[in-house]
Amino acid sequence: MVRDGRVRSDYKTLVKEAGARMLDSGLTVATWGNVSFCDRENGLLYITPSGMDYHQIVEDDICVFDMSGNHIEGNRRPSIELKMHLGVLNARQEAAACVHTHPIFSTVFSTAGENIPIDVHDEAAQALGDTIRCCRTYALPGTEELAECAREALGEHANACMLRNHGLVCIGKDMEAAFKVSTVVEMVSEILWRVRAMGRDYVPISMDNVVAMQEFVKTGYGQY
Ligand code: 13P
Ligand code: ZN
Repeated sequence: MVRDGRVRSDYKTLVKEAGARMLDSGLTVATWGNVSFCDRENGLLYITPSGMDYHQIVEDDICVFDMSGNHIEGNRRPSIELKMHLGVLNARQEAAACVHTHPIFSTVFSTAGENIPIDVHDEAAQALGDTIRCCRTYALPGTEELAECAREALGEHANACMLRNHGLVCIGKDMEAAFKVSTVVEMVSEILWRVRAMGRDYVPISMDNVVAMQEFVKTGYGQY
């Protein structure tokens, strides 16, 4: 394989391990979903290969591209959602990691075409940035249209969006943050679903309290 001096093996390991974590945490099944990480310093994207078992892949199966989509390193075909990861991470420069999952409860909402508000729950208010919107239309996996719909649904502040009848796209400043968002969206979706199963609807947190939670998490939560 041709080696490029900018490519880092620790980022390949990060993406490889994130694939297994996504599968093991039940956020997807089989070989679906995909993960990427952008090394902003070198302008390189590390992304999982298409259709491979996340427990079988090794570092050299991770595909490396520049942020314009030029191939840099790797012999595998990249995830079919490469354009979506590039589009989202080029649009949201504060993020470095993008995790695309197929979790059950979030996908129930994406299939119903219903947005997930952040005033449902404390953790949603703290972690999600904005309403989690569904893409405006269904688009086939791997298409330019899907990539464009995801970028648009994410907007400037939301840390996740829903692909209709398909799954979630979550971003974060690092891999940990992107996984936290994936987990919180799924948890909030399940809570909302269960409230509806009671034949009720949720009682929202006031917007003042949502804003208070967003401020609190920046400064008042955790350790110095
Ligand atoms: P890849 O295996 O090519 O990443 O595709 C899986 C998927 O979830 C497509 O949306
Ligand atoms: Zn998918």
